[in-house]
Amino acid sequence: MFRKLLIANRGEIALRVVRACRELGVLSVAVYSDADASAPHVREADEAVRLGPAPSAQSYLLGDAIIAAAIATGAEAIHPGYGFLSEREWFARAVRDAGLVWVGPPAEAIAAMGSKTAARQLAMAHQVPVVPGTTTALRDATEAAEVAAQFGYPVLLKAAAGGGGKGMRVVRSADEIVGALDAAKREAKNAFGDDAVYVEKYIEGPRHVEIQVLADQHGNVLSLGERECSVQRRHQKMIEEAPSVAVSPELRQRMGEAAVRAARAAGYTNAGTCEFLLDKSGEFYFLEMNTRIQVEHPVTELVTGVDLVQWQIRIAAGEKLPFTGPFEPNGWAMECRITSEDPANGFLPSIGRITHLQLPSGPGVRWDGGVEAGSEIGLFYDPMLAKLIVWAPNRAAAVARMRRALCELSVDGIETSREFHLRVMDDAEFQRGEIEIQWLERRLASLLAVPASEGAVHAAAIAAALLARQDRGGTATPSSGGTQPAAAATARADAEGAWVRAARVDGLRSR
Ligand code: ADP
Repeated sequence: MFRKLLIANRGEIALRVVRACRELGVLSVAVYSDADASAPHVREADEAVRLGPAPSAQSYLLGDAIIAAAIATGAEAIHPGYGFLSEREWFARAVRDAGLVWVGPPAEAIAAMGSKTAARQLAMAHQVPVVPGTTTALRDATEAAEVAAQFGYPVLLKAAAGGGGKGMRVVRSADEIVGALDAAKREAKNAFGDDAVYVEKYIEGPRHVEIQVLADQHGNVLSLGERECSVQRRHQKMIEEAPSVAVSPELRQRMGEAAVRAARAAGYTNAGTCEFLLDKSGEFYFLEMNTRIQVEHPVTELVTGVDLVQWQIRIAAGEKLPFTGPFEPNGWAMECRITSEDPANGFLPSIGRITHLQLPSGPGVRWDGGVEAGSEIGLFYDPMLAKLIVWAPNRAAAVARMRRALCELSVDGIETSREFHLRVMDDAEFQRGEIEIQWLERRLASLLAVPASEGAVHAAAIAAALLARQDRGGTATPSSGGTQPAAAATARADAEGAWVRAARVDGLRSR
């Protein structure tokens, strides 16, 4: 095992890796930008090295400075977390060339899975089903129209170098194709410096189901089962769970085998995830392989009992996987991404200082966070503050437990997605597991319109408080025995808009 490991990341995932290191008896080195000088991941690590000013390009993306920090502190390995440099082939290579161990797959495997068209070719060559479509970049709009006609509308134009949903366009008819291709190419060029675009059949109403894979350096590759990540907004996952209501043991085995074939084909080692679309008829299609630890890894940890981050480190150190699977999930786990966004205002990023933070606890609750009371939340990094994860014996109990945990959570000073998650937990369709990747976008307006059950209590209390204040200020006339209609309407409108603000109104929080 390593003596010391450097963590090339920040926030909750950096802290997660520090914890894994500590349990393994490995010393940890944090890196940080000026914005993170007093962040929990810096304090909890055994050592810390400053990289530079807040912008990522001047700190967390400085590969050479990070490698220099590892060498200077005597770290033997680098864990990249997710995002930042985690899927940059050149960085994995540079780490190896510097004589350090990369806690992740070989640079060659990152490259093999880095282009969507190359990954599709690899998958197809190894009997892993992919979404029908092309495996090479389109020459022009004429070819796009031909291919689209062949597969049938709607189709999806996708950037070969894509990520984060960029460079994607749904095309519903032939007359849209020229404009859509231009737009997709332009966006791809801007985002990735590569305007290669290909065509996929657009699958209506699929679920996003992904398979967690672990592969050691001794030829053992195994599946740890699925995660359901269909609750997405703008292709960003918001709630994840394991297992999926849509996956039977037989389907789990088939998807697991497909993921293992894809990983083997890429010469994969370490932890990785194969993303699939699962359509209504139960057919599944490979989308891409993420060659790093995923944000949502804890739900798999909770239903398998396998510490994925520890195993990433142990595999990198040359250990052999001691288990063979197949893994049948034990109970149910669910994760909500707690972000500094304001759902009531179009998920606008919220900035400021966390003045108060009360964390949920009790049976089956896990908090993977990177912030604390006093943390300044700016716009430099991803808005995800923490992940709230629960485990329970079954899905209904997990939903009830998540609800309870969200009620215990209180974050003051900034807006968060907390109440939004409460509303999802209260939603009848979500409770029945009737979700697919467009579910949230379709449901969002009605989710935000109906007060969450906790919110309803707050709204009523706030309405009463507003009326009382108006009474004290003399703007309403209590002598009539009732409230003036205008004042009551204002109070009602305020109350209806107040569900997000409720947590900030002192003395009204009923728990
Ligand atoms: P990115 O790498 O940009 O995130 P993905 O290929 O992973 O792109 O796709 C992102 C999301 O877009 C998926 O999670 C899914 O919600 C949707 N999507 C991708 N391909 C298709 C498809 N062929 N049909 C329908 N939806 C799709």
